Amino acid sequence: MPHHALSIYWFDRDMRLADNPALVAAAANSERLLLVHILDTADPRPEGGAAKWWRHGSIAAFQESLTPFGQTLYLFQGEPEAILKQLLTETGATAVYWNRRYEPHTRTRDTAIKAALKAAGIHAESHIGDVLQEPHTVNKADGTPLKVFTPFSKAADALPFHAPAPRIMALPPQPVQKPTTALPLAALGLLPTKPDWAGGLRESWMPGEHAAAQRLKDFIGGALSGYAEKRNLPYYTSTSRLSPYLHFGEITPRLAYQAARATGDSYDVQRFIAELYWREFSIYLLWHFPALPVQNWRASFDAFPWREDAAALKAWQRGQTGYPIVDAGMRELWHTGWMHNRVRMIVASFLVKHLLIPWQRGEEWFWDTLVDADAANNAASWQWVAGCGADAAPYFRIFNPVTQGEKFDPEGRYVKQWCPELKDVSQQFVHQPWEAGALLRPKGYPAPIVDHSHARNRALEAFEKIKKEAV
Ligand SMILES: Cc1cc2nc3c(=O)[nH]c(=O)nc-3n(C[C@H](O)[C@H](O)[C@H](O)COP(=O)(O)OP(=O)(O)OC[C@H]3O[C@@H](n4cnc5c(N)ncnc54)[C@H](O)[C@@H]3O)c2cc1C
Repeated sequence: MPHHALSIYWFDRDMRLADNPALVAAAANSERLLLVHILDTADPRPEGGAAKWWRHGSIAAFQESLTPFGQTLYLFQGEPEAILKQLLTETGATAVYWNRRYEPHTRTRDTAIKAALKAAGIHAESHIGDVLQEPHTVNKADGTPLKVFTPFSKAADALPFHAPAPRIMALPPQPVQKPTTALPLAALGLLPTKPDWAGGLRESWMPGEHAAAQRLKDFIGGALSGYAEKRNLPYYTSTSRLSPYLHFGEITPRLAYQAARATGDSYDVQRFIAELYWREFSIYLLWHFPALPVQNWRASFDAFPWREDAAALKAWQRGQTGYPIVDAGMRELWHTGWMHNRVRMIVASFLVKHLLIPWQRGEEWFWDTLVDADAANNAASWQWVAGCGADAAPYFRIFNPVTQGEKFDPEGRYVKQWCPELKDVSQQFVHQPWEAGALLRPKGYPAPIVDHSHARNRALEAFEKIKKEAV
């Protein structure tokens, strides 16, 4: 017998019916269920443009998938605590359910809301969020947090696996009395209008749980085999491209982990699972160091002599640096809202090492343009590339954008796809078109904004200034 005549289920980035532990609990314990999503206007860092576009699609897809259940997702905008309290009063609901969220603002907010609801005699119940292991459960033997990836992933993987919750097959009906203040989706203002720059995103992506499940299935039956070897080749669909779906909780890492493991324990599977653990490690770092998106994780980098250079930053953002692999990546990002991991590492390294521009400027640009922009993964990865993060790449490892291009895009297919100016350049010069003779040099493609050797030496000199403390 359900405990509550009416409960509220509070959705955020978990609009899915598969592996949704809190929704399973809410459905089992409620005679009627009010499904709500609240766009939090008190979030100190609102989502960027591309992520907003995705959220709109995520909501629309989820609303559609609820129709066969006779259910509706009601939308609100404002401060979640005030809205939940108002809904509880208006509807007489006696319980609120949600999945836990681990970012600094949501974590503090949800803890306060849980305490306030409990104090008001409301049943407040949260369940494990979109992680393999919750951050507070992975520690060193002495209880302190781990700072290096491999011991972290080993410790996390040694904990019992949280098997995915069964897929929801039925939901309790909606309340008889509908909420009076719900908004239509368009009123959330998540889509770009003037100008509508989202054409490339629409071409490239289909948000929603259904598309997420299909993508996982395609990956498991396709690119997973060979993933370890091919995952660094940006021209091919050699990785899962699940990142926005994981970020928005349209699929969980538990489902991805389980599906990969079900195929065996090949090196490909191990590599893929290691990437899922890099995601967990980022979430873990942000949990323990909430300033990760803005502050150096290694304080020794606070004295690093960065340069502010608006013109160079703009050239980087627009894909006009004159280095094909960098420009192709930045243009792919602008057009599709996504970039391949290898290329993210190359463009990030170029910004912080060749241009000496603070990693935060790159993090901000990615925040606004990536459909998978994620507070934890974005900040941790930028700091990793910049050398100031946890278990980071050593600073003196400075990617040469020409050799990186030649290694991971040997035929130049990827750079030609995104930089059509290079379409007639021969394989020999496609990653360094300035070396081609004057007649063969591509028209309309910029000369390098900085010379590689000069930039490399400048970066190493800059690092000398903080080296004693940084090593
Ligand atoms: C400078 C920089 C910024 C980044 N910003 C983000 C970001 O905002 N959001 C984001 O999700 N990822 C970010 N990444 C990590 C990584 O590039 C993407 O997760 C990956 O490219 C997504 O593609 P995929 O889903 O095909 O990955 P796959 O190779 O199929 O991996 C599966 C999943 O594992 C996780 N993952 C893979 N690689 C990494 C990694 N290096 N670090 C952490 N998690 C990983 C992702 O959730 C990914 O979906 C960033 C990397 C760099 C170098």
